Amino acid sequence: MTDIWQAALSDLETKVSAHNFESWFRNIQFHHQDGYTAHLEVADEFFKAWIEENYLDLIVESLRAVSGIKMSVIIGVKGAFGEAQELPRSLDVTPRQAAVAPRSSRMMQQPMHSFGSPQGLAPARTPQLQTNFFEALTPQAPDQPISDQDLQRRILEAGLNPRYNFDEFVVGPSNQFTHAACVSIAKNPGHNYNPLFIFGGVGLGKTHLLQAVGIEILKRNPNMRVLNLSSEEFMNQLITSLRQKDMNSFRAQFRNNCDVLLIDDIQFIGGKDSTQEEFFHTFNALYHSGKHIVMTSDKSPKELPGLEERLRSRFSWGLIADIQPPDLETRIAILERKAEVDGISLDKDVAILLAGAISSNVRELEGTLVRLGAEASFMRSRITVEMAREHLRRMNIEQPQQLSVDRIICAVAEHFDITAEDIKGARRTRAISEPRQYAMFLARKHTDHSYPELGKRFGGKDHTTVLAAVRKLEDLIQTDQGLQRLIAALEERIHA
Ligand code: ADP
Ligand code: MG
Repeated sequence: MTDIWQAALSDLETKVSAHNFESWFRNIQFHHQDGYTAHLEVADEFFKAWIEENYLDLIVESLRAVSGIKMSVIIGVKGAFGEAQELPRSLDVTPRQAAVAPRSSRMMQQPMHSFGSPQGLAPARTPQLQTNFFEALTPQAPDQPISDQDLQRRILEAGLNPRYNFDEFVVGPSNQFTHAACVSIAKNPGHNYNPLFIFGGVGLGKTHLLQAVGIEILKRNPNMRVLNLSSEEFMNQLITSLRQKDMNSFRAQFRNNCDVLLIDDIQFIGGKDSTQEEFFHTFNALYHSGKHIVMTSDKSPKELPGLEERLRSRFSWGLIADIQPPDLETRIAILERKAEVDGISLDKDVAILLAGAISSNVRELEGTLVRLGAEASFMRSRITVEMAREHLRRMNIEQPQQLSVDRIICAVAEHFDITAEDIKGARRTRAISEPRQYAMFLARKHTDHSYPELGKRFGGKDHTTVLAAVRKLEDLIQTDQGLQRLIAALEERIHA
């Protein structure tokens, strides 16, 4: 059965992006088979929930493709099924794998490596150190609740904005993964996903999520020492300490007086050598003692310019999570949530109009709502559709013409000489399944619909099917020039 699982893994590798494969599938361990049921093990609850919600169908499909049998799959957290009956084959444990599956019995037997070794397991991931971390915290963690006022004070002292909490963050497909990782860390800091590296475009909620981690940790344990600052602030404090020849207290603040370090906009340390040097030692000291580090950045570690190799590799040790621009439904939900928090009455048609017009940046969306809210309260009225249109015109924001999914499906069908019903249907012959995948890819690219919504519009398919098609083509199109030309031709037809 291990062989079947390996074959299924190879099949899955072709169906999801390389990044997703590394993050999710490589660390699933086959445990045992019971009749037609495969039992698979993963590192923790977060992982289990994520796989179950997003990839279970895909796994079942791959197992069927390689074995010819429709098997059911049960996912369990490590230890749930007892001792492994078949040991995992692969022994090559890279730091990235270690981060998501740190408790396999195999890995406990790994010798400790020093920080210098390129493939080395970092000591903080060993079970002993993680236990120490929590033991060390216990004495400082009395169950006595503190007053709301004291909690607020600690939140501010940690450099956190109380508004940036989980409660006010709207979760959608574009940020769901990163949100889940953040919640998991907030519930159990110093454990898995260390460091967490969040990246994504401007105004998409990176700072909000980063701070939500800190706020939630303080709510759960006000004695945790949470430190939140931008990498620029880190650099400025460093410069001041150097000037005042007071490096000891600088180092003590970060290395000894901090349980959770939240660093916003880490990209700014690119090219700043002494800041990188100091941050490197801070990172090591914290990481060694099982303290949690969360960073945000506008680019992934791989793409960050001017970053030292040793930092680049450390940033990739834990989990790398991206945030994408929110889809239309999420943008509407964000507007409604903001309106509720700020006490602005917002009609649905206004929300739809604004969310349709402003698509790339949540900050801008929020700013527009606040402006219109102020304008409306000045005029003692609600925000009307006319007011919103007028505002968008003033700001030179046009309502984009949305392509419809049906139009895309028809254009692709026409190109391949099949029918729209074929594309929406269930037949899996290549002559139909390939055009279907192109249409799914184009629909994702040119409309704002979420994956579940697209699934519905493609004849009631599961969202994982759409996701798999989109991810596969996103990967292929990077290198396949024939595919690039085909997609360009299809786009021309869609826009004709
Ligand atoms: P970034 O750090 O990625 O540039 P921010 O975290 O500063 O973006 O977010 C910009 C603004 O948009 C903030 O006011 C934040 O509260 C809001 N925001 C972004 N995403 C969401 C979301 N999913 N739900 C609620 N508010 C959001
Ligand atoms: Mg930010």
